[in-house]
Amino acid sequence: MVAAVQNTYQVLQSALRGKLITPDNPGYDEARKVYNGMIDRHPAAIARCVDVADVIQCVNFARENRLTLAIRGGGHNGGGLGICDDGLVIDLSLMKGVRVDPAARTARVEGGCTWGDVDHATHAFGMATPSGIISTTGVGGLTLGGGIGHLARTCGLSIDNVLEVDMVLADGRFVTANAKENSDLYWAIRGGGGNFGVVTSFLFKLHPISTVYGGPMLWHLDQAAEAMRFYRDYILKAPEEMNGWFAFLTVPPGPPFPENLHMKKMCGVVWCYTGPLDKAEEVFKPIRKFGPPALDFVGPIPHPALQSMFDPIYPPGLQWYWRADWVNELSDAAIAVHVKYAAQLPSMHSTMHLYPINGAPQRVGKNDTAFSYRDANWGEVIVGVDPDPANNERTIAWTKEYWEALHPYSAGGAYVNMMMDEGQDRVKAAYRDNYERLAKIKAKYDPTNLFHVNQNIKP
Ligand SMILES: Cc1cc2nc3c(=O)[nH]c(=O)nc-3n(C[C@H](O)[C@H](O)[C@H](O)COP(=O)(O)OP(=O)(O)OC[C@H]3O[C@@H](n4cnc5c(N)ncnc54)[C@H](O)[C@@H]3O)c2cc1C
Repeated sequence: MVAAVQNTYQVLQSALRGKLITPDNPGYDEARKVYNGMIDRHPAAIARCVDVADVIQCVNFARENRLTLAIRGGGHNGGGLGICDDGLVIDLSLMKGVRVDPAARTARVEGGCTWGDVDHATHAFGMATPSGIISTTGVGGLTLGGGIGHLARTCGLSIDNVLEVDMVLADGRFVTANAKENSDLYWAIRGGGGNFGVVTSFLFKLHPISTVYGGPMLWHLDQAAEAMRFYRDYILKAPEEMNGWFAFLTVPPGPPFPENLHMKKMCGVVWCYTGPLDKAEEVFKPIRKFGPPALDFVGPIPHPALQSMFDPIYPPGLQWYWRADWVNELSDAAIAVHVKYAAQLPSMHSTMHLYPINGAPQRVGKNDTAFSYRDANWGEVIVGVDPDPANNERTIAWTKEYWEALHPYSAGGAYVNMMMDEGQDRVKAAYRDNYERLAKIKAKYDPTNLFHVNQNIKP
C-alpha cells in the first residue's frame, strides 16, 4: 500500500470503534475469506464495524476517497459479492443484535446476523420468520434479494416479512424505510439487493412457529421421474402449511444415514409442515404411501434444528458454483432432463433443489416489491460443489450443461441471490418490468453507484 493511502486508512481507523484490518495485519487472510472457497479477493481494508456510527464513517470514507466499497453480511454470496479486490469492505459480522418483541410479534435484527442468530433468538419465544435452508447464511444478502426457504409457502418470502429497515445511504445519511417513511426505498430493498445502501437493521414480522413436522424423505434414483411427478402434483395443490423442496443428492457416508445408502445418488423432499402436530401423521399418509421412501427422517423437529440440519454437510470453504431459474411448470419433458443429469451428479456435495413458492409469496403482487417472479411456482438451483479445486472443471461443466438443458423449460429470469457473474441482461431479467423503477430509485439515492459490488442496478 502506498504511504498516502496507508495514512488515510489510519485516519479511518481512528474514527472507528471496530477494527480495521489491512494486509499487514496477521488476521487479514482469515478476514478476507468468504463462504465460497473459489473466491480469493484482496481488499485494501476490511472494517469490522460494531455500530451504525462505524458504518457511516466507512461509507463517507469510501465515497470521499472514491474507493470500491463492498458490504459483507453473512459472506455466503456464491459470486463473492461480500468482498472485493482493493477497496474497502464494510464487514457487518460483529453487528449481531436481535431484539424480539413478543407482544408485537416482531424481531429487530442487526445487519450482520446469520439466520442461526435469528432462529436462536426467536425460538425462545416460540416464533420464527421465514429464511432459507442453511442457518449460516447471512440475513442481509438473503433478505435483500428475496429469501426463499422452508417456510415460504406458509409465511411468504423473507422480504414479505420485512416491516422496516434502518439503513445508511451513499451520502452518509441514516434513514428508516417502511410503508410510510421513504416508501420508495422500502419497495426497492425488498428484492433489489444491496444496491441502495447498507442495511444496519431489519424489523421482521414473526409467526407462531416453533416445532414443525419435517425433515428429509428419500427415494432411490430409479424412482426419480415418478417421485418428481408425484411431488409436482402434490405440492401444487397442497395446503399452505405444507412446505417441501425437492432435491437430487448423494447420501453422505456417515451417520445418521444407514450404511446401505452411503454415497448412493437419490432424490427426495425436505418437508416442513407447520400445521397442527397432532394432524401431521394423517396429513403425511398419502405422501408415505407413494414409494414408500427408502429413508424417512420426517417427524416433529424444532424449527431451528431443521434450519441447521444441513450446516455440517455444507461448511464454509467448499468450491461452489451455481445456476438458477424460476419455474412455472414442471413438465414431463423437463423431468426427463432432470433425471438424466441427476444420474451424473459430479460429486457428493453437488445437488439440485426445487423450492416451491406457490402459496403465500404469490399473494403479493409482482410490482408490489422489487422482487418480480411472484408468478413462478418454484425456484430451481443447480449447484456444483466439491471441497477440492481440482474438481472445479467437472462440477462447473455439469452445472452449466444441466442448466442450459433445462433453461428452455424455465420461466426465464434469474434469482439475484443465486447467480454468479452472469451479466447485466440476467440482472434485468431478474426484475423484468420492475427494473426501470429500480434504476430511478438508484439514481435518486446512489447516483454515482457507490454500492455496485452486487447484482448491479445501474443508476
Ligand atoms: C450454503 C448456502 C445456502 C443458501 N440458501 C439459500 C436459501 O435457502 N434461500 C435463499 O433465498 N438463498 C439462499 N442462499 C443464497 C443467499 O441468499 C445469497 O448467497 C446471499 O447473497 C447471501 O447473503 P449473505 O449476507 O450471506 O452474503 P454476502 O456475501 O455477505 O452479501 C451478499 C450481497 O448482499 C449484500 N449485503 C449483505 N448484507 C447487506 C446489508 N446488511 N446491507 C446491504 N447489502 C448487504 C452484499 O453487498 C452483497 O452484494 C444460500 C447460499 C449459500 C451459500
